[in-house]
Amino acid sequence: MRAPLPVCPRPLAGEALRSWLTRVGRPYSLSAEDLAQCLSLNSPGDTVDAVNIVLLAECARVPIAHVTALLSGPPSWTLRERHACVVCWRCLAEDLQRREPVHLRSIWRQAWRVFCPQHAARLDVAPVRSLFPRRSRRSHPRGRVPEFIHRHLQNSSAEAPHQRGLGREAIVGAIQTIENAITGALCGTRPETDWGLLSAKEFLKIISDLTAWALSNFEAFRAQPPAAQLPSIVSMSSPKIFTPPRRLLAPYGGERSIRTLPQSPHPGLRCGALWWAYALMAQGHPATKLRRDPRDRQQHFLRGRTPAGLAWLHARMDAWPADYVADRWVDLSQWLMPGLAPLPFTDTIRGTNRAVTDTNL
Ligand SMILES: [Zn+2]
Repeated sequence: MRAPLPVCPRPLAGEALRSWLTRVGRPYSLSAEDLAQCLSLNSPGDTVDAVNIVLLAECARVPIAHVTALLSGPPSWTLRERHACVVCWRCLAEDLQRREPVHLRSIWRQAWRVFCPQHAARLDVAPVRSLFPRRSRRSHPRGRVPEFIHRHLQNSSAEAPHQRGLGREAIVGAIQTIENAITGALCGTRPETDWGLLSAKEFLKIISDLTAWALSNFEAFRAQPPAAQLPSIVSMSSPKIFTPPRRLLAPYGGERSIRTLPQSPHPGLRCGALWWAYALMAQGHPATKLRRDPRDRQQHFLRGRTPAGLAWLHARMDAWPADYVADRWVDLSQWLMPGLAPLPFTDTIRGTNRAVTDTNL
C-alpha cells in the first residue's frame, strides 16, 4: 500500500488516463511522466497493466473501476504518441463553457477513431504543452489555453473550399461505418456480411494489414504513404477531412518501415488509411460514383501502386482466410509479374506529381 496523494482531482467522465495524470501532477508541478516515475508506474500512457491500475487507485483513493474506465481500449488499438494529443476543439470549448477542467477523452486515443462521436467533427492534433502548460512556465501561462482553443475552433469551423467528387457526406459515412465496424469487432461482434464472411478477429487482422499498407511508404525514396495520396475523386470531396501532415516518410526498408494506426497520431492521415480499408473491403460505397464490387475498386485503385507495397500486401494475405481472399479480392500477383509494367494513371494523386489510375469511377 502506498501513501495516498494529499491532493488529487477526481477523474472526469470519459477522461483519458494521461489527461487525468496530467491534472493530478499539476499541483506538484509534475508532468504525467514525472508523476508516473514518482509513483513507480511503468508508463503514463494507456498501456498500463493491472498492477499499475491498483497502484494508481490506491494513490488517488479512487475505486479501481474508475481508473480502468480511463483506458481507451486494447493497447494494440490505442495511439502511442505522447507528445501530441488528439482533440475535438468543440468538446474542449464546451469544457471551458461549463467551467470544467479542460480534459482529453479516452475515446480520442482509440487509433481507429477519427471523428468525435458527439460532434461528428474530425479530430485534430495539438502539442500537449499547449493545452497543459506547466505552472512555472511564464512563456505559456494557463490563461492562454482558452485563447488557443478558441482560435483552433474558429479555424476548424471555417468554410471548406469548394467541394467536388463524392461529397463530404459520402466520405464521412464511409469512415464512420468502418469506425463502427471496428468498434463492434473489438467487442467480439462478427462484422456484417457486407464485409465478407469473416470473424471479428479475422476482420481486425485484415483492417490492420490494409491500414498499415496505406500508412507506410513503400517507395525507394522519401515520399508520402498511400493514405496521403488519395484518388482525387475522394480527396477533392472533403479536403478538410483528410489534410494529412506534409512530412515525407523515409524510403522503404523492410518491416521496420511499416507504420500502423496506433503509430500514426494525425487523424487526417488515419482518415485516409481508413478510407483505403473501406474502399478495398466494403461491398458498396455510400455514393453512386464508386463501383459496388470491391474487386472493381481494387482493380482501379491498386493497379500501378508501388510493387513493393503490393508484394507486402500479397504476402500478408497468406494469413487471411483463403475463401475470403478468393471470393473478394483480385489477384495482386498480376501486377507483380516481372516485365509487366503498370498501366499509366490518368488522374493526378494529391500532393505528388505521380499519376494514378482513376478512370470510369
Ligand atoms: Zn466533440
